[in-house]
Amino acid sequence: MFKYQKAYELLMGEELKPREDGEVTTNCRFHPDDNPSCSINLNHGLFKCHGCGKEGNFITFIKLFRELTSCKAGFDVTAIIDQAKELAGMPEIKNLFLSYWSELTGLRYNVERIISIKSGIKVCLKIVQNGSVVYSDMPNLSSAKSRNELVGRFRALVGVECLNMDYDLIELERRCKDKLNIINDKSEAKKEEAPLTPEEEKIGLDFLCSPNLVKIIQQDLMSMGAVGEEINLLLLYLAGTSRILPKPISIVIKGTSSGGKSYIVSIAIRLMPPDAVKEYSSISAKALTHMKQEELKNKILIVYERPGAEASDYNIRVIQSEGKIRIATTVKDPETGNFTTIEKEVEGPIAYIETTTKTSIHPENETRVFILYIDESVGQTENIHLAQKEKYIASNQKITEELRKQIIKKHVIAQRILKPYKVEIPYVHEIEFP
Ligand SMILES: [Zn+2]
Repeated sequence: MFKYQKAYELLMGEELKPREDGEVTTNCRFHPDDNPSCSINLNHGLFKCHGCGKEGNFITFIKLFRELTSCKAGFDVTAIIDQAKELAGMPEIKNLFLSYWSELTGLRYNVERIISIKSGIKVCLKIVQNGSVVYSDMPNLSSAKSRNELVGRFRALVGVECLNMDYDLIELERRCKDKLNIINDKSEAKKEEAPLTPEEEKIGLDFLCSPNLVKIIQQDLMSMGAVGEEINLLLLYLAGTSRILPKPISIVIKGTSSGGKSYIVSIAIRLMPPDAVKEYSSISAKALTHMKQEELKNKILIVYERPGAEASDYNIRVIQSEGKIRIATTVKDPETGNFTTIEKEVEGPIAYIETTTKTSIHPENETRVFILYIDESVGQTENIHLAQKEKYIASNQKITEELRKQIIKKHVIAQRILKPYKVEIPYVHEIEFP
């Protein structure tokens, strides 16, 4: 094996069979070539095409490769070049915190520095298009205003209207957060991956085998700081648990804007495995279609107060009823000039939970969900006030954080053990739907 063999094989997309001195002649990558006319020496990396005259060393080849293969759809040139460089034993000196290539816009986002500030995540961002940096900025990715300003400046400076850029930036924020969490919390992340220990399994099974399981779940939910709302909380818990079933349950919670809808959702999902929950405070029309294939599979998707919600209704409906979203988009292949269709699938099923202040939602969505109304009575408000006061009395602090942690641990373990089973109900005809 010669020094540059693997790298050139990756770039040429074929296996190369060189002579003893490392010379090989193959079809040129840079001009239409049926008669092999490009000679490469895999030993020292030099190449020369007798057809189009292009020649140089490995670096030149990479440069040409980047220029000529740059924007083929669904094909991240930078990633391939990085890999080829590594194969050739020349890893780039990178000062990168994170690099993300968006299939959606064809842009690569390089984050060089990241600053965790009070109002979010501020990054030194370089945007790469077709292999060269076209834009740099220091946005606060957590701020919609800051993201919008970036999109505006990018449009003014680069002259490209990028409709989906905001989605890229939201995704970038998520990735930065994920990476920060991994860095800050390496040990804990590993723990989540590890299989359950026999002790943990016992905790989970003992709990799941309790004859009064539902009662315990309700008590545990209340111990998480809820006031009233026992039934809504239990339904949310069951909907969340149903994510592992072929047809999970979806829930829409209705109520006035500060009525505590988000609060009861947040309590119910505290007892779910963190990696089973996807929470968004807003969701764009196509956001779901841009997710990775298994990103939503058997997950709980929570959307709080969708502003202009109708846009994403359609996709939510589809993934609820079909269990997946299939999309086909047409893109122009710059090499051949032909239009090609890319198909993509985002798999469900999902347990969907939404909170809304609207009294009615899209009728077709409404038939696919359970609708819950939160308790907005005077009595409930008084109870909440009372509970808030009691939090500050030391002797009332019966449920300590430590105990809560144990409860959460027990539920997370139990949720990991759960599997779907077929259920037979011999007396099913005796059951009436309300
Ligand atoms: Zn050539």
